[in-house]
Amino acid sequence: MPNGKPAGVRCVQLADDNRCLIFGQPARPAFCGGLQPSEEMCGDSREYAVHWLGELERLTAPV
Ligand code: SF4
Repeated sequence: MPNGKPAGVRCVQLADDNRCLIFGQPARPAFCGGLQPSEEMCGDSREYAVHWLGELERLTAPV
C-alpha cells in the first residue's frame, strides 16, 4: 500500500487466513516488523487484544 494503510482498512497483503503474504520479505514495511507484542497490547485474551487494537484504529482514524 504505497500511500500507507488507513485505519480500518484491511491490508492488501493480508491473506484470507489472516497471514501476511509478504512476511519475511524486504517489501514488508519496517513498521510491521518493528511492532513487538506487549502485555498492554495483548492482555490475557484474544478479545482483549482485538478491543485494544480497535481502540488504536479508532484513535488514529482520519477525521
Ligand atoms: S504485517 Fe504488515 S504487510 Fe503484512 S499483512 Fe500485516 S499490515 Fe500488511
